[in-house]
Amino acid sequence: AESYDAFHAEVVQNRELQRPDSPRSTRYIEIKLPEGADYQEGDHLGVLPRNPTALIQRVVERFRLNTDDHLLLEGGGRSIAHLPLGRPISLLDLLGYSVELQEAASRSQLREIMAYTTCPPHKKELEALLEEETYKSEVLHKRVSMLELIEKYPACEMPFDRFLELLPPLKPRYYSISSSPKALGNRLSITVGVVEGPARSGHGQYRGIASNYLRDRQPGESVVVFLRRPGAGFELPADPQTPIIMVGPGTGVAPFIGFLQAREALRAEGAKLGEAHLYFGCRKPEEDFIYKQELEGYDRSGIVKLHTAFSRQDPLAKQYVQHKLNEDRETIISLLEQGGRLYICGDGTRMAPDVETTIREAYRAIRGKTEEEAVAWLNDLLFKGQYAKDVWTG
Ligand code: FAD
Repeated sequence: AESYDAFHAEVVQNRELQRPDSPRSTRYIEIKLPEGADYQEGDHLGVLPRNPTALIQRVVERFRLNTDDHLLLEGGGRSIAHLPLGRPISLLDLLGYSVELQEAASRSQLREIMAYTTCPPHKKELEALLEEETYKSEVLHKRVSMLELIEKYPACEMPFDRFLELLPPLKPRYYSISSSPKALGNRLSITVGVVEGPARSGHGQYRGIASNYLRDRQPGESVVVFLRRPGAGFELPADPQTPIIMVGPGTGVAPFIGFLQAREALRAEGAKLGEAHLYFGCRKPEEDFIYKQELEGYDRSGIVKLHTAFSRQDPLAKQYVQHKLNEDRETIISLLEQGGRLYICGDGTRMAPDVETTIREAYRAIRGKTEEEAVAWLNDLLFKGQYAKDVWTG
């Protein structure tokens, strides 16, 4: 926690943003910042989560440990620098805060498990998993963890201290701040899509560590967090009259809620606002149209022009944000040529590349440019800071 300049912050609200009929969950989580912790719209909140008790309990059982145990870890080397060395720590805190327990096993972890396995048929099974393609399909893709493997192979005699050494450090998770200090003062909000579903490994439910940890935090409890300013200029333009185009389906809408709160506050202070468009997408309006009321309110009051795309409303016509952008291509290209800003937030695997292709293609078609010229044009916008991305995978 020290290496991130992290601090304790109190959760003041934690509520569901999806409709009761939705099979999925997105949480609105508001926290109170301590004195001196400042942020601006578009910043990230880093969260240091804790592994859930049920997961820790599985380690305790597999190694026949005792939940009341306290340990004193000693040793050196970079590979264990993340462990709390040289001071007594409870087993529960050690497993709760220090290591990733659900990451897919690496090939070197697999090799160690194999080396500690005495039963010849099991050793063979483990060896088969090391083969390049089998490893990718059976371990990496299914996200089978070291813990799952040693549970499956009880003849593996790996000692607990070696298991601990092999586990990677627990990573902070980042969330795009979904508020503006102009609206919330010394509080901020994040918008957390809860990762939960049948595990790809085929064994039980998979629950993402940080999103479920946050989902379970009650008002009054504290969380360990830190603030981070993204490097890529993901912030409102200094001049509120600069036109802005925001593309943020699903939880990708998060930073734009902060942008719109700021625009509302700026207008109340007397500022003249430039044109703003928000492209939001989700599955069905009656399920996962998060911040519906707020967004429709901002649209009505002229803070933004809202464009929505629903991918599962009409099974014959799946609509994604890029389809809506394509319908408005003339306006978008012309706003960008006038110096307007473009922001994309959310899924970096498919959505962001699809949106980029749509915008490049629109420029190419409208201005009669080649593909190379369109690529250079968008890169130039990125370089000049006229275009910024806040995207993630997973
Ligand atoms: P983890 O424990 O990290 O698990 C996630 C991993 O599990 C992924 O690799 C995924 O592929 C895999 N997985 C998912 N489902 C299954 C399954 N059924 N079986 C097996 N494996 C599975 N998230 C938001 O919700 N809101 C935001 O505003 C936001 N902003 C972000 C900004 C940035 C700059 C970045 C980098 C990320 C952002 N994220 C945001 C993502 C967020 O940081 C976390 O990655 C996300 O919440 C999942 O974390 P977790 O700890 O719950 O899941």
